[in-house]
Amino acid sequence: MRLDVVTIFPDYLRVLELSLIGKAAGTGLIDLAVHDLRRWAHDRHRTVDDTPLGGGAGMVMRPDVWGEALDTVLDLPAERAAAREAATGRRRAGTRQVLVVPTPAGEVFTQRTAEDLAHADQVVFACGRYEGIDARVPEHYRQLGVEVRELSIGDYVLNGGEVAALVIIEAVARLRPGVLGNPDSVVEESHSRAGLLEYPVHTRPVSWRGHDLATSWPGLLSGNHPRVARERRERAIARTADRRPDMVARLDAQHLDGKDRAALAHNGWAVPRGAAHPVPLSLRRALAEDVPGLVVLARRTFPDACPSFLTTEQVTEHMDRHLTAERLGAWQADPRVIVTLACLTEDTPAEAGPVRAGEPVGYSVVILEAEDDAGALPAGLDPRPAAVNVPHRPAGGPGLAAELSKVYVDARLRGSGLVDVLLSEAVRGACALGVTTLWLGTHDGNRRAHKAYRRSGFVKVGTRRYDVGGQSCRDVVMTLSPGACDPQQPVWSGR
Ligand code: SAM
Repeated sequence: MRLDVVTIFPDYLRVLELSLIGKAAGTGLIDLAVHDLRRWAHDRHRTVDDTPLGGGAGMVMRPDVWGEALDTVLDLPAERAAAREAATGRRRAGTRQVLVVPTPAGEVFTQRTAEDLAHADQVVFACGRYEGIDARVPEHYRQLGVEVRELSIGDYVLNGGEVAALVIIEAVARLRPGVLGNPDSVVEESHSRAGLLEYPVHTRPVSWRGHDLATSWPGLLSGNHPRVARERRERAIARTADRRPDMVARLDAQHLDGKDRAALAHNGWAVPRGAAHPVPLSLRRALAEDVPGLVVLARRTFPDACPSFLTTEQVTEHMDRHLTAERLGAWQADPRVIVTLACLTEDTPAEAGPVRAGEPVGYSVVILEAEDDAGALPAGLDPRPAAVNVPHRPAGGPGLAAELSKVYVDARLRGSGLVDVLLSEAVRGACALGVTTLWLGTHDGNRRAHKAYRRSGFVKVGTRRYDVGGQSCRDVVMTLSPGACDPQQPVWSGR
């Protein structure tokens, strides 16, 4: 690959003699040449600029000087230039020549641009100074058929194009075969094809100034390579969601597996079935105005979780008794009940119909076994099964039980990890209110639900009978003691 830089400050580019790029130039992997633009100036002062036509501050670089310089460096002598007007932009058959004009007014230079330029045979950089290069210069070479890229390295203004050229050269050259010692280094990096930032990296010592990886990230030291790879990917997802939500919004849903989706959900993004990209997720306590939407969601999701032996009449009778606006409204208004709802923040097309922004797509209900001033328990609290043990508070004193009464997710969001997030939030909410045991009953045959509860730390402690529309069903009873949890931290496997 041949790289040419045209500048009024050739010494600026001497840093290219250092490090891996310098080594690549030294061994002939890259052929690097820096040219002083003033070589093509004609007056005694070697002037390369003039005042702006139309007036205004600063100076503009002259097109005639740049024209002669670029004709030479691109190997386009003036007499041959006209003949190239209809040409393809290729100097010789099979070679690709690119003229890069750094400018804050250009398209933003990205890793994709670097990957593309790494396939060129020659890249020529025209480094502007002052107010920039006369705009006819890039236009002219484009008209001649030269591939011209006006590139910005970011939304800020530098004094000259040299730093931008250095940035582009370094990003491009390291992608050329042989320049980096280990070619795998570029595969998992930030901004690679995966579209994520890289996971945080660490080296020895394992414990440094109180930052102990054995505690904060034991999986990293497990020696279990698939586990390390999985946890690194989850941390890459978390980091990208935190720092670059714009990148998460562009992730291709087809390349996200179930675990990726779960990690995204824990970081505030959902991928509905059939959606092209992740969508921001909102999780919050339900308000009074959410109750009608919650009733619709509750009545749509309950039948999905029912065993097939229940009749439609039995399921409907149960919903008419327990999933009413009165019941959900009472829960929403009762401080002893935590009703959390999840919704997407944007209208999203999905496989089984679009999801509207703000429409509830998941909810959970935690009911505390606490009496009000009149000695009454919250409405709809199921009798606590005998198998549920209520441990004392860690500091002593009586414990507090709560029933995880509901965790339901709309079918369009199934597989998005939303169930685990609602569970984490339910556990966190219960923990914050001093609950020492959280229990639930779920139908014996609902293996998917059992798996989700186990993932969140629930363990089976027994069974109970549960009535649905007059039909007695067998439920598995599971409990979790959130006593050890940090109310600030969502509880989930990846953290
Ligand atoms: N008047 C120009 C404008 O507002 O767009 C800015 C000119 S700047 C002071 C001088 C030169 O610095 C530009 O011609 C370009 O070569 C370089 N430059 C400045 N900021 C840049 C950026 N963000 N990306 C690439 N090149 C930049």
